[in-house]
Amino acid sequence: MATTPITPSADSKAAPYFPEQVTGMYVLARALKNVGIENVYGLVGIPVTEAAYLIQGQGIRFVGFRHEQQAGMAAATEGFLTKKPGVLMTVSSLGFLNGLTATANATVNCYPMIQISGASDPTMVDMNVGTYEQLDQFNTAKPLVKAAFRCSKAEDIPAAVNRAYRAAVSGRPGGVYIDMTTPALGQVMNREDAEKLFYTPVDLYTPTAPSPEAVDRAVEIITSAKRPAILFGKGAAYAQADDKIKTLVEKYNIPYLPMSMAKGLMPDDGPLSALSCRSTIMEKADVVIVMGARLNWMLSFGKGKWNPDIKFVQLDVEPQEIDVNRPIAAPVIGDLGLSLDAILAGMEGKTMSTDAAWLPALQAETKAKGVKFAARIDDAKSAMPMTHWTALGAIKPILAANPDVILVNEGANTLDDTRDAISMSLPRHRVDCATWAIMGMGMGSVIGAAVATGKSVVAIEGDSAFGFSGMDFSTACRFNLPVTVVIFNNGGIYNGIGVPMDKTSDPAPTTLDIHARYDKLGDAFGAQTYYVQTPDELSKALTESIASKKPCLIDVQLAADSGKESGHIGYLNPAPLQQITV
Ligand code: ADP
Ligand code: MG
Repeated sequence: MATTPITPSADSKAAPYFPEQVTGMYVLARALKNVGIENVYGLVGIPVTEAAYLIQGQGIRFVGFRHEQQAGMAAATEGFLTKKPGVLMTVSSLGFLNGLTATANATVNCYPMIQISGASDPTMVDMNVGTYEQLDQFNTAKPLVKAAFRCSKAEDIPAAVNRAYRAAVSGRPGGVYIDMTTPALGQVMNREDAEKLFYTPVDLYTPTAPSPEAVDRAVEIITSAKRPAILFGKGAAYAQADDKIKTLVEKYNIPYLPMSMAKGLMPDDGPLSALSCRSTIMEKADVVIVMGARLNWMLSFGKGKWNPDIKFVQLDVEPQEIDVNRPIAAPVIGDLGLSLDAILAGMEGKTMSTDAAWLPALQAETKAKGVKFAARIDDAKSAMPMTHWTALGAIKPILAANPDVILVNEGANTLDDTRDAISMSLPRHRVDCATWAIMGMGMGSVIGAAVATGKSVVAIEGDSAFGFSGMDFSTACRFNLPVTVVIFNNGGIYNGIGVPMDKTSDPAPTTLDIHARYDKLGDAFGAQTYYVQTPDELSKALTESIASKKPCLIDVQLAADSGKESGHIGYLNPAPLQQITV
C-alpha cells in the first residue's frame, strides 16, 4: 500500500515517520477528497497548518488568503457558481469569527458552503480554563448557519464532512459549520482503521419535485394571465435550469425581469427582456412568476407599488418562503429544474391569454429607456475628471465583446451604476454584494470565481468597497489568476466631497483618498497595473488586461463629486433632522 508521511510540512520534516499511522488531519483531507471537494480556501495557523498541507497532498487546491472573510467569500462564490459547496478552512477564535461573517452571508444568500475551523479542546472551553484561543465556536456559529457539527474524535470526521456537504446543498442551500477540534485533528489512528471510515455517500443532492396539484394551479393562473411576467432571482441562476427557463420564456412569449445576480440568465438585451420596465411590471402585471427570488426589501416586500390584484406564482425550493410578506396565489415548491419540467409539461397544448398590447408596450418602453440611457452615457463621455458614467461608457463595449468574463461588482454608486450600465448575456456571470448589500466580498469573490470556473473575471469596485478586501488582491497575484480589478476612485464612501463637522480638523466620515494610487498596491505584488484618467486610457487598459489573462489592477480616477450618498437606496437611511453639533 502506498503511504505518505503524516507530517509533510517543511518545519516538521524531521518528525518521526510512521507509515502505518495517520492523524485526524489526514482523515479530514481524505474525507474532503472522498466527497469530491476540489478547492479549499483558507488561512492557516494553529491548529490547521498541517491539515492544509495534507489537503494539498490529496490533490485538492489549497488557496491561501490574507483574511478569512475573503477566503469565505471565495468559497461561497464557488458554491453559487457550481452548485457544489465551497470549503473555507480557518484557525480558531478570530480566524473562525472572520470566516463566520462570510458563512453567515452565504446562508442569507442561499449559497452552499462549508466552514471548517480549528477549535480548542471543548472540554477545556466548557470549563472556562482560559485555554489557547478559547471560544465556544460551535454555539457561536449555530444561529448563523444552516447546520453545525462538532468533531471531537477523528472517527467522526468523514461522516461530518459528508453530512455537511448534504446539508449545504440540500433544500435551500446555505452555510454549514464544522468545529474541528484540536483533539480530533491530532488523534493518531492506524491507517487501516482510518481507511474503513470512508464511504461513498449515495445521492448527495436529491432534487425535490412539486406536487401535481400545485403545478395544475400554477398552469391555470399562468395561462389565464393578461399581463404576465417572470421575475428571476439568483436562486434561478443557481439552479442551473437554463434551458427550461429559455423554453418557458420563448415558447410562451413571457417578458422577464432579472434581479441583479440573475442578469444574463436570459440576455439583458433580448427581445423579451423587461429589465428597464420594473415599475411598469410592478404596477401593471396581473400574474408574475417569481423564480428563485424573495419578495424582500429589494422587491418592496411584494406590496406597495405592486398591483394590488396581482397573482404571484412562486417557484422556490423552500416552503417557508411562501406567504412571507403577502399571500401567494400559486406556490410551487421544488427544485426549479423539476418544477419547470412539470409546468412545461402541464402547459403543453395550452395557449396563453396575453393581451396583444402588453408585450409591444414593454418593448416600446424598453426602447425609449434605451435611448435615454445611451444619451446619459454619451453626455458623460467627455467629463474630466471622469464620472461613474464616463468610466462605464468606456467599459461597456469591452465587456459586451467579452461576454464570458465573470463580472464581480460592489460599492454604492459603483454597484448601482454598473448593474444598470453593463448588460449580461450569459447565466451566472454576475456576482455582487447581494441580499445584505454588504461591502467586502470583492477580492474573495473574484478569486473564488476564477478558481472555480477557470474563466476570466473582472471586478468593478468602489474605492471604499475595495478597501475591505484589497490586501487579498495579492492572493490573486500569488495564484496568477486571470482577474482584472477596476477601482472607481471618487475618494470616498459614496463620494469624496464630505464636509467634516466644524468641531474637528479630521476628515469627514465619508472621506477617503481621492489621490490614492491603488495601482501602486498592485505593483507591490507584481500585477500588471494602470492609472487612468480618460475613457480612452481606460478602454486600452481594460482591453489589454482581459487579453493578458493575468492579474491586473486599474486605478480609475473619478471626480470626487461623482456619486451620491447611499446610491439608489438613500431612502433606507433614517431621515435626518437638522445637523446638531452640540
Ligand atoms: P434575489 O436576491 O436574486 O431575489 P434571493 O436570494 O432573495 O434572490 O432568493 C433566492 C431564492 O431561490 C431563495 O428563496 C431560495 O430558497 C431559492 N432557491 C435556491 N435554490 C433553488 C433551487 N434549486 N430551486 C428553486 N429555488 C431555489
Ligand atoms: Mg467611493
